[in-house]
Amino acid sequence: MKLALVFLLAFVLLATTALAGKDYYGILGVNRSALKREIKKAYKELSKKYHPDKNPGDKESEQKFIECAQAYEVLSDDEKRRIYDQYGEEGLQEGGGGGQQFHNPFDIFSQFGFGGGGHRGHQERKGAETQMEIRVTLEEIFNGEQVEVEINKQVICPICRGSGAKKADDVKKCTSCGGQGIRIVKHQLAPGMWQQMQTTCDVCGGKGKIVKSKCASCNGHKVKRGSHQITVTIERGVADNHPIIFENEGDEHPDITPGDVHFVVRTVPHAIFTREGIHLRMRAEIPLKQALLGISFEVKHLDGNKITIQREGVTQPGFVQTVKGQGMPTHMYPSERGDLYVEYSVKLPEKLTAAQKAAIEKAFS
Ligand SMILES: [Zn+2]
Ligand SMILES: [Zn+2]
Repeated sequence: MKLALVFLLAFVLLATTALAGKDYYGILGVNRSALKREIKKAYKELSKKYHPDKNPGDKESEQKFIECAQAYEVLSDDEKRRIYDQYGEEGLQEGGGGGQQFHNPFDIFSQFGFGGGGHRGHQERKGAETQMEIRVTLEEIFNGEQVEVEINKQVICPICRGSGAKKADDVKKCTSCGGQGIRIVKHQLAPGMWQQMQTTCDVCGGKGKIVKSKCASCNGHKVKRGSHQITVTIERGVADNHPIIFENEGDEHPDITPGDVHFVVRTVPHAIFTREGIHLRMRAEIPLKQALLGISFEVKHLDGNKITIQREGVTQPGFVQTVKGQGMPTHMYPSERGDLYVEYSVKLPEKLTAAQKAAIEKAFS
């Protein structure tokens, strides 16, 4: 599975380089299905890293800084990205009417407003946190396990990449408000007296854009229900109710960063063992003979190994034996283990034979 994926990736990369002169996705280190905000994030990081101010006199960094800006300029524009995806860099040169003209890379960089130092861009909006229960067996906690969890969530429509439009050029600027999303309305209060009011454009609903024909896959909603698989690592000895946090795995939306998913470990009851922190407890019913003469029995532990539990002498009903080191592994220090408590009850025989009666009579007289 993993191997197949690696091959597939290699193939995609090869295909890209064969098609286009420059691999803009590769330059920014994102994959071809990357979302806008992922592209933005990648550019943000790389452009800071290669900025000439940070690398004075380094020609290679400067070249990288320019390349990143060019890659970002193409991939951040839906229409340019669509042409690039289909026809490569050449497509952009032909379609652009006399070649793709790039802006000054410093202008693109300064759009982000992080050149000044100290000043940070506005906080990105983030979706709400989702709580999910993850039910695990005591065996899985004892041994540690990778659990595959299927998350049903809202995903960005993979067909329109969240634009909601059939084709990139189906998104048009709203002519009613000129793409501003707002309109100025004049009210006459009295002759010669006007009041200007600003209202949300009712034609585009304040978005400034109108989608001419909707994406058939998401029906123009930009998002759809989808499922996503996450591998959750259950660490040995993890506590019940322990949260495992997956960042940005919540519902996707084109304009916001998905919220985090908090998995909460919930242990399902076990047939033999009950957990008490790092210790385990079990009940054992022993026959009268063992209660009087000494105990020896086997129990299958949580790792599948059989352990022998022994005890000499008389065991009273309700007695609790502590078996050192046979409890749960300690979280983060799995070689340190708790104890196993065995709580005894005694099964008395239903009836005694005449011989048994006689023997007991004699023995306890
Ligand atoms: Zn769609
Ligand atoms: Zn409008």
